[in-house]
Amino acid sequence: MPKLNEHYQNLKESYLFSEIAHRVAAYKDAHPDQKIIRLGIGDVTLPLTPLALKGLHEGVDAMASPDTFKGYGPEQGYQFLREAIAGYYARNGVTVDAGDIFISDGAKSDTGNISELFSQDNVILIPDPVYPVYVDSNIMGGKQITYLPGNAGNRFLPMPDPSLHADIIYLCSPNNPTGAVYSRQQLTEWVDYALREQAVILFDGAYEAFITDPDLPRSIYAIPGARQCAIEFGSLSKTAGFTGTRCGYTVVPKELVFPTSGGGELSLHAMWNRRQSTKFNGTSYIVQKGAAAVFTEEGMAQCQDHIRYYQENARMIADTLSRKNILFFGGVHSPYIWFRCPDGMESWEFFDYLLHQAQVVGTPGAGFGENGKNYFRLTSFGDHDSTREAMERLERLL
Ligand SMILES: *Cc1c(COP(=O)(O)O)cnc(C)c1O
Repeated sequence: MPKLNEHYQNLKESYLFSEIAHRVAAYKDAHPDQKIIRLGIGDVTLPLTPLALKGLHEGVDAMASPDTFKGYGPEQGYQFLREAIAGYYARNGVTVDAGDIFISDGAKSDTGNISELFSQDNVILIPDPVYPVYVDSNIMGGKQITYLPGNAGNRFLPMPDPSLHADIIYLCSPNNPTGAVYSRQQLTEWVDYALREQAVILFDGAYEAFITDPDLPRSIYAIPGARQCAIEFGSLSKTAGFTGTRCGYTVVPKELVFPTSGGGELSLHAMWNRRQSTKFNGTSYIVQKGAAAVFTEEGMAQCQDHIRYYQENARMIADTLSRKNILFFGGVHSPYIWFRCPDGMESWEFFDYLLHQAQVVGTPGAGFGENGKNYFRLTSFGDHDSTREAMERLERLL
Protein backbone atom coordinates (compact mmCIF):
# COMPACT_ATOMS: atom_id res chain seq x y z
CA MET A 1 0.00 0.00 0.00
CA PRO A 2 1.41 3.41 -0.84
CA LYS A 3 1.95 5.77 2.06
CA LEU A 4 0.65 9.10 0.87
CA ASN A 5 1.95 12.61 1.29
CA GLU A 6 -0.54 13.43 4.00
CA HIS A 7 0.52 17.06 4.04
CA TYR A 8 -2.05 17.38 1.24
CA GLN A 9 -4.67 17.04 3.95
CA ASN A 10 -3.46 20.32 5.40
CA LEU A 11 -4.35 22.28 2.26
CA LYS A 12 -7.39 24.49 2.59
CA GLU A 13 -10.13 23.45 0.22
CA SER A 14 -9.46 25.43 -2.95
CA TYR A 15 -13.03 26.39 -3.53
CA LEU A 16 -12.63 30.08 -4.42
CA PHE A 17 -13.24 30.04 -8.17
CA SER A 18 -15.52 26.98 -8.15
CA GLU A 19 -17.64 28.56 -5.42
CA ILE A 20 -17.83 31.81 -7.41
CA ALA A 21 -18.88 29.86 -10.52
CA HIS A 22 -21.44 27.94 -8.48
CA ARG A 23 -23.02 31.08 -6.97
CA VAL A 24 -23.09 32.87 -10.34
CA ALA A 25 -24.70 29.86 -12.05
CA ALA A 26 -27.37 29.63 -9.34
CA TYR A 27 -28.16 33.33 -9.69
CA LYS A 28 -28.32 33.04 -13.48
CA ASP A 29 -30.73 30.13 -13.26
CA ALA A 30 -33.05 32.13 -11.05
CA HIS A 31 -32.68 35.37 -13.07
CA PRO A 32 -32.11 34.31 -16.70
CA ASP A 33 -32.59 37.77 -18.20
CA GLN A 34 -30.21 39.70 -15.96
CA LYS A 35 -26.91 40.72 -17.59
CA ILE A 36 -24.00 39.72 -15.40
CA ILE A 37 -20.68 41.59 -15.68
CA ARG A 38 -17.59 39.69 -14.61
CA LEU A 39 -14.79 41.70 -13.02
CA GLY A 40 -13.52 38.77 -11.00
CA ILE A 41 -11.27 36.97 -13.39
CA GLY A 42 -7.49 37.14 -13.11
CA ASP A 43 -7.15 36.36 -16.79
CA VAL A 44 -6.42 38.72 -19.67
CA THR A 45 -8.94 39.19 -22.48
CA LEU A 46 -7.09 41.05 -25.27
CA PRO A 47 -5.51 38.87 -27.99
CA LEU A 48 -1.77 38.46 -28.60
CA THR A 49 0.08 41.40 -30.14
CA PRO A 50 1.05 41.38 -33.85
CA LEU A 51 4.77 40.91 -33.13
CA ALA A 52 4.20 38.04 -30.70
CA LEU A 53 2.07 36.36 -33.37
CA LYS A 54 4.76 36.93 -36.00
CA GLY A 55 7.34 35.28 -33.72
CA LEU A 56 5.03 32.33 -33.10
CA HIS A 57 4.42 31.92 -36.84
CA GLU A 58 8.16 31.93 -37.51
CA GLY A 59 8.51 29.23 -34.88
CA VAL A 60 5.82 27.11 -36.53
CA ASP A 61 7.36 27.56 -39.98
CA ALA A 62 10.76 26.42 -38.70
CA MET A 63 9.16 23.11 -37.75
CA ALA A 64 8.19 22.46 -41.39
CA SER A 65 11.61 21.88 -42.83
CA PRO A 66 14.32 19.36 -41.83
CA ASP A 67 17.10 21.95 -41.69
CA THR A 68 15.24 24.30 -39.32
CA PHE A 69 13.21 21.73 -37.39
CA LYS A 70 13.71 21.77 -33.60
CA GLY A 71 13.47 18.75 -31.34
CA TYR A 72 14.37 18.85 -27.65
CA GLY A 73 15.82 22.24 -26.79
CA PRO A 74 18.03 23.26 -23.88
CA GLU A 75 16.16 22.76 -20.58
CA GLN A 76 17.21 26.26 -19.50
CA GLY A 77 15.69 27.80 -22.63
CA TYR A 78 17.13 28.99 -25.93
CA GLN A 79 19.98 31.47 -25.71
CA PHE A 80 18.16 33.90 -28.03
CA LEU A 81 15.33 34.28 -25.51
CA ARG A 82 17.59 34.43 -22.43
CA GLU A 83 19.49 37.25 -24.13
CA ALA A 84 16.28 39.02 -25.17
CA ILE A 85 15.14 39.00 -21.53
CA ALA A 86 18.54 40.24 -20.30
CA GLY A 87 18.23 43.02 -22.90
CA TYR A 88 14.77 43.93 -21.59
CA TYR A 89 16.16 44.17 -18.05
CA ALA A 90 19.01 46.34 -19.36
CA ARG A 91 16.57 48.76 -21.02
CA ASN A 92 14.94 49.10 -17.60
CA GLY A 93 18.32 49.90 -16.06
CA VAL A 94 18.88 46.53 -14.38
CA THR A 95 21.83 44.20 -15.01
CA VAL A 96 20.92 40.52 -15.22
CA ASP A 97 23.25 37.89 -16.68
CA ALA A 98 21.53 35.93 -19.49
CA GLY A 99 23.23 32.82 -18.05
CA ASP A 100 21.27 33.27 -14.80
CA ILE A 101 17.89 33.16 -16.61
CA PHE A 102 15.87 29.95 -16.86
CA ILE A 103 12.92 29.86 -19.29
CA SER A 104 9.80 28.02 -18.16
CA ASP A 105 6.16 27.46 -19.00
CA GLY A 106 5.10 30.14 -16.52
CA ALA A 107 5.66 31.65 -13.11
CA LYS A 108 3.13 29.41 -11.39
CA SER A 109 5.27 26.32 -11.99
CA ASP A 110 8.46 28.07 -10.91
CA THR A 111 7.07 29.77 -7.79
CA GLY A 112 5.52 26.44 -6.83
CA ASN A 113 8.54 24.26 -7.62
CA ILE A 114 11.23 26.45 -6.06
CA SER A 115 10.37 25.24 -2.55
CA GLU A 116 11.89 21.84 -3.49
CA LEU A 117 15.33 23.43 -3.14
CA PHE A 118 14.80 24.18 0.54
CA SER A 119 14.62 21.82 3.50
CA GLN A 120 11.78 21.60 6.01
CA ASP A 121 13.44 23.51 8.83
CA ASN A 122 13.35 27.04 7.51
CA VAL A 123 11.57 30.11 8.78
CA ILE A 124 9.43 30.95 5.75
CA LEU A 125 7.71 34.34 5.53
CA ILE A 126 4.73 34.67 3.20
CA PRO A 127 2.55 37.78 2.92
CA ASP A 128 -1.18 37.46 3.64
CA PRO A 129 -3.15 38.22 1.49
CA VAL A 130 -1.24 36.92 -1.54
CA TYR A 131 -1.29 34.65 -4.61
CA PRO A 132 -2.13 31.25 -3.05
CA VAL A 133 0.59 29.23 -4.85
CA TYR A 134 3.35 30.12 -2.36
CA VAL A 135 1.35 28.92 0.62
CA ASP A 136 -0.01 25.74 -0.96
CA SER A 137 3.32 24.59 -2.42
CA ASN A 138 4.94 24.91 1.02
CA ILE A 139 2.08 23.10 2.74
CA MET A 140 2.43 20.24 0.22
CA GLY A 141 6.06 19.97 1.32
CA GLY A 142 5.06 19.86 4.99
CA LYS A 143 6.63 23.21 5.75
CA GLN A 144 5.76 25.70 8.46
CA ILE A 145 4.74 29.16 7.31
CA THR A 146 4.97 32.46 9.15
CA TYR A 147 2.51 34.94 7.72
CA LEU A 148 3.34 38.58 7.09
CA PRO A 149 0.03 40.33 7.70
CA GLY A 150 -0.97 42.95 5.16
CA ASN A 151 -3.61 45.45 6.25
CA ALA A 152 -4.76 49.02 5.82
CA GLY A 153 -2.21 50.08 8.48
CA ASN A 154 0.77 48.99 6.36
CA ARG A 155 -1.08 49.67 3.10
CA PHE A 156 -0.79 45.91 2.37
CA LEU A 157 3.01 46.21 2.17
CA PRO A 158 4.30 44.25 5.18
CA MET A 159 7.87 45.08 6.23
CA PRO A 160 10.50 42.97 8.03
CA ASP A 161 10.55 42.76 11.80
CA PRO A 162 14.28 43.21 12.55
CA SER A 163 13.92 41.34 15.86
CA LEU A 164 12.80 38.13 14.09
CA HIS A 165 14.91 35.78 12.00
CA ALA A 166 13.83 34.47 8.59
CA ASP A 167 15.41 32.12 6.02
CA ILE A 168 13.06 32.42 3.07
CA ILE A 169 10.90 35.42 2.18
CA TYR A 170 8.24 35.52 -0.53
CA LEU A 171 7.45 38.98 -1.93
CA CYS A 172 5.01 39.84 -4.71
CA SER A 173 5.13 43.40 -6.09
CA PRO A 174 2.90 44.67 -7.61
CA ASN A 175 0.87 42.36 -5.44
CA ASN A 176 -1.92 40.03 -6.46
CA PRO A 177 -4.61 40.59 -5.09
CA THR A 178 -3.96 43.99 -3.45
CA GLY A 179 -2.23 45.87 -6.29
CA ALA A 180 0.17 47.35 -3.71
CA VAL A 181 3.71 48.10 -4.92
CA TYR A 182 6.85 48.29 -2.77
CA SER A 183 8.89 51.49 -3.06
CA ARG A 184 12.63 51.46 -3.64
CA GLN A 185 13.23 52.29 0.02
CA GLN A 186 10.96 49.47 1.22
CA LEU A 187 12.61 46.89 -1.04
CA THR A 188 16.00 48.15 0.12
CA GLU A 189 14.90 47.41 3.69
CA TRP A 190 13.90 43.89 2.67
CA VAL A 191 17.19 43.28 0.84
CA ASP A 192 19.24 44.64 3.76
CA TYR A 193 17.26 42.43 6.15
CA ALA A 194 17.75 39.35 3.94
CA LEU A 195 21.50 39.97 3.67
CA ARG A 196 21.78 40.41 7.44
CA GLU A 197 19.81 37.21 8.14
CA GLN A 198 21.44 35.33 5.21
CA ALA A 199 17.94 34.73 3.91
CA VAL A 200 16.72 34.30 0.34
CA ILE A 201 14.02 36.54 -1.13
CA LEU A 202 11.74 34.88 -3.69
CA PHE A 203 10.48 37.87 -5.65
CA ASP A 204 7.45 37.48 -7.92
CA GLY A 205 7.45 40.28 -10.48
CA ALA A 206 4.64 38.95 -12.69
CA TYR A 207 3.04 42.42 -12.86
CA GLU A 208 6.20 44.53 -13.30
CA ALA A 209 5.07 45.74 -16.74
CA PHE A 210 2.10 47.52 -15.11
CA ILE A 211 4.41 49.89 -13.21
CA THR A 212 4.37 53.33 -14.81
CA ASP A 213 6.22 55.37 -12.16
CA PRO A 214 9.95 55.23 -13.02
CA ASP A 215 10.80 55.61 -9.31
CA LEU A 216 9.13 52.31 -8.40
CA PRO A 217 11.41 49.28 -8.81
CA ARG A 218 10.27 46.79 -11.46
CA SER A 219 12.82 44.21 -10.39
CA ILE A 220 14.37 43.21 -7.08
CA TYR A 221 17.73 43.54 -8.87
CA ALA A 222 17.19 47.29 -9.05
CA ILE A 223 18.19 47.16 -5.35
CA PRO A 224 21.92 46.98 -4.50
CA GLY A 225 22.83 43.66 -2.90
CA ALA A 226 19.86 41.75 -4.34
CA ARG A 227 22.05 39.50 -6.48
CA GLN A 228 23.44 38.12 -3.21
CA CYS A 229 20.02 37.29 -1.74
CA ALA A 230 17.22 37.12 -4.32
CA ILE A 231 15.62 34.90 -6.93
CA GLU A 232 13.16 36.63 -9.28
CA PHE A 233 10.20 35.21 -11.19
CA GLY A 234 8.81 36.79 -14.35
CA SER A 235 5.93 35.90 -16.62
CA LEU A 236 4.57 36.84 -20.01
CA SER A 237 1.05 36.02 -18.88
CA LYS A 238 -0.14 39.46 -17.81
CA THR A 239 2.58 41.39 -19.70
CA ALA A 240 1.89 39.93 -23.13
CA GLY A 241 -1.39 38.02 -22.81
CA PHE A 242 0.41 34.65 -22.64
CA THR A 243 -1.90 33.08 -20.02
CA GLY A 244 -2.87 30.43 -22.56
CA THR A 245 0.32 30.47 -24.63
CA ARG A 246 2.50 29.83 -21.51
CA CYS A 247 5.95 31.29 -20.93
CA GLY A 248 7.76 32.55 -17.85
CA TYR A 249 11.30 32.88 -16.56
CA THR A 250 13.25 32.70 -13.33
CA VAL A 251 16.51 34.45 -12.50
CA VAL A 252 18.78 32.54 -10.13
CA PRO A 253 22.05 34.48 -9.69
CA LYS A 254 25.18 32.33 -9.41
CA GLU A 255 26.11 34.37 -6.32
CA LEU A 256 23.50 32.46 -4.27
CA VAL A 257 25.76 29.90 -2.60
CA PHE A 258 25.02 28.66 0.93
CA PRO A 259 26.83 26.34 3.34
CA THR A 260 25.68 22.75 3.83
CA SER A 261 25.49 20.96 7.18
CA GLY A 262 28.47 18.80 6.20
CA GLY A 263 30.77 21.79 5.83
CA GLY A 264 30.50 22.06 2.05
CA GLU A 265 28.40 24.44 0.00
CA LEU A 266 25.60 24.35 -2.55
CA SER A 267 24.69 26.79 -5.29
CA LEU A 268 20.99 27.52 -5.78
CA HIS A 269 21.70 28.15 -9.47
CA ALA A 270 23.26 24.71 -9.86
CA MET A 271 20.45 23.09 -7.86
CA TRP A 272 17.73 24.77 -9.95
CA ASN A 273 19.58 23.80 -13.12
CA ARG A 274 19.66 20.20 -11.94
CA ARG A 275 16.01 20.28 -10.89
CA GLN A 276 14.86 21.70 -14.21
CA SER A 277 17.09 19.38 -16.28
CA THR A 278 15.67 16.41 -14.38
CA LYS A 279 11.97 17.28 -14.28
CA PHE A 280 11.40 19.74 -17.15
CA ASN A 281 12.16 19.40 -20.84
CA GLY A 282 11.89 23.02 -21.83
CA THR A 283 9.29 25.41 -23.19
CA SER A 284 8.37 24.82 -26.82
CA TYR A 285 10.60 26.46 -29.43
CA ILE A 286 7.51 28.01 -31.02
CA VAL A 287 6.49 29.73 -27.79
CA GLN A 288 10.05 30.89 -27.14
CA LYS A 289 10.12 32.50 -30.62
CA GLY A 290 6.91 34.35 -29.76
CA ALA A 291 8.34 35.36 -26.37
CA ALA A 292 11.57 36.68 -27.89
CA ALA A 293 9.50 38.95 -30.15
CA VAL A 294 7.68 40.27 -27.06
CA PHE A 295 10.96 41.36 -25.46
CA THR A 296 12.08 43.51 -28.40
CA GLU A 297 11.51 47.24 -27.99
CA GLU A 298 8.68 47.27 -30.51
CA GLY A 299 7.18 44.05 -29.12
CA MET A 300 7.05 45.53 -25.64
CA ALA A 301 5.58 48.79 -26.98
CA GLN A 302 2.69 46.76 -28.41
CA CYS A 303 2.20 45.03 -25.04
CA GLN A 304 2.20 48.44 -23.34
CA ASP A 305 -0.73 49.49 -25.58
CA HIS A 306 -2.72 46.58 -24.17
CA ILE A 307 -1.65 47.35 -20.63
CA ARG A 308 -2.78 50.96 -21.09
CA TYR A 309 -6.18 49.67 -22.19
CA TYR A 310 -6.49 47.71 -18.94
CA GLN A 311 -5.20 50.65 -16.94
CA GLU A 312 -8.00 52.79 -18.36
CA ASN A 313 -10.46 50.28 -16.85
CA ALA A 314 -8.57 50.39 -13.56
CA ARG A 315 -8.90 54.17 -13.56
CA MET A 316 -12.68 53.94 -14.04
CA ILE A 317 -12.96 51.56 -11.09
CA ALA A 318 -10.66 53.64 -8.89
CA ASP A 319 -12.57 56.85 -9.73
CA THR A 320 -15.86 55.26 -8.75
CA LEU A 321 -14.49 54.02 -5.42
CA SER A 322 -12.90 57.42 -4.72
CA ARG A 323 -16.21 59.20 -5.33
CA LYS A 324 -17.89 56.77 -2.94
CA ASN A 325 -15.20 57.34 -0.29
CA ILE A 326 -14.34 53.65 -0.21
CA LEU A 327 -10.83 52.80 0.95
CA PHE A 328 -8.98 51.01 -1.83
CA PHE A 329 -5.47 49.95 -2.85
CA GLY A 330 -3.87 49.26 -6.22
CA GLY A 331 -5.47 50.19 -9.52
CA VAL A 332 -2.56 52.31 -10.72
CA HIS A 333 0.52 50.11 -11.20
CA SER A 334 -1.58 46.97 -11.23
CA PRO A 335 -4.60 45.47 -12.98
CA TYR A 336 -6.18 44.88 -9.54
CA ILE A 337 -8.26 47.11 -7.30
CA TRP A 338 -8.57 45.95 -3.71
CA PHE A 339 -11.10 47.63 -1.46
CA ARG A 340 -12.67 47.34 1.95
CA CYS A 341 -16.19 45.92 1.79
CA PRO A 342 -18.69 48.63 2.73
CA ASP A 343 -20.69 48.56 5.98
CA GLY A 344 -18.36 46.07 7.64
CA MET A 345 -19.50 43.27 5.36
CA GLU A 346 -17.38 40.14 5.01
CA SER A 347 -16.10 39.39 1.53
CA TRP A 348 -18.49 36.53 0.66
CA GLU A 349 -21.42 38.50 2.00
CA PHE A 350 -20.41 41.44 -0.20
CA PHE A 351 -19.94 39.06 -3.15
CA ASP A 352 -23.59 38.01 -2.86
CA TYR A 353 -24.75 41.60 -2.33
CA LEU A 354 -22.94 42.81 -5.45
CA LEU A 355 -24.15 39.85 -7.53
CA HIS A 356 -27.76 40.17 -6.45
CA GLN A 357 -28.08 43.96 -6.38
CA ALA A 358 -25.82 44.97 -9.28
CA GLN A 359 -25.16 41.73 -11.21
CA VAL A 360 -21.43 42.38 -10.94
CA VAL A 361 -19.02 39.54 -10.11
CA GLY A 362 -15.78 40.16 -8.23
CA THR A 363 -13.44 38.06 -6.10
CA PRO A 364 -13.87 37.77 -2.32
CA GLY A 365 -10.68 38.73 -0.48
CA ALA A 366 -11.05 35.73 1.84
CA GLY A 367 -9.74 33.58 -1.03
CA PHE A 368 -6.29 35.17 -0.66
CA GLY A 369 -5.76 34.77 3.06
CA GLU A 370 -7.10 35.55 6.49
CA ASN A 371 -6.34 39.26 6.12
CA GLY A 372 -8.51 39.48 3.03
CA LYS A 373 -11.76 38.56 4.70
CA ASN A 374 -13.18 42.10 4.72
CA TYR A 375 -11.80 43.04 1.31
CA PHE A 376 -12.78 42.54 -2.29
CA ARG A 377 -10.85 42.38 -5.58
CA LEU A 378 -12.00 43.80 -8.90
CA THR A 379 -9.89 43.37 -12.02
CA SER A 380 -9.36 45.63 -15.01
CA PHE A 381 -9.06 42.77 -17.50
CA GLY A 382 -12.58 43.36 -18.90
CA ASP A 383 -13.51 45.62 -21.80
CA HIS A 384 -14.23 49.36 -21.50
CA ASP A 385 -17.98 49.12 -22.06
CA SER A 386 -18.70 46.43 -19.51
CA THR A 387 -16.34 48.01 -16.96
CA ARG A 388 -18.10 51.36 -17.44
CA GLU A 389 -21.50 49.75 -17.05
CA ALA A 390 -20.37 47.88 -13.95
CA MET A 391 -19.19 51.15 -12.45
CA GLU A 392 -22.51 52.85 -13.20
CA ARG A 393 -24.22 50.05 -11.32
CA LEU A 394 -21.79 50.39 -8.40
CA GLU A 395 -22.30 54.15 -8.39
CA ARG A 396 -26.04 53.62 -7.89
CA LEU A 397 -25.66 50.80 -5.38
CA LEU A 398 -22.96 51.99 -2.99
C1 LIG B 1 -0.85 35.46 -12.83
C2 LIG B 1 0.28 35.36 -11.84
C3 LIG B 1 1.46 34.70 -12.16
C4 LIG B 1 1.66 34.14 -13.54
O1 LIG B 1 1.56 32.80 -13.62
P1 LIG B 1 1.83 32.08 -15.02
O2 LIG B 1 2.03 30.66 -14.62
O3 LIG B 1 3.08 32.68 -15.59
O4 LIG B 1 0.64 32.29 -15.88
C5 LIG B 1 2.48 34.64 -11.23
N1 LIG B 1 2.37 35.24 -10.05
C6 LIG B 1 1.27 35.92 -9.72
C7 LIG B 1 1.22 36.61 -8.42
C8 LIG B 1 0.18 35.98 -10.59
O5 LIG B 1 -0.93 36.63 -10.24
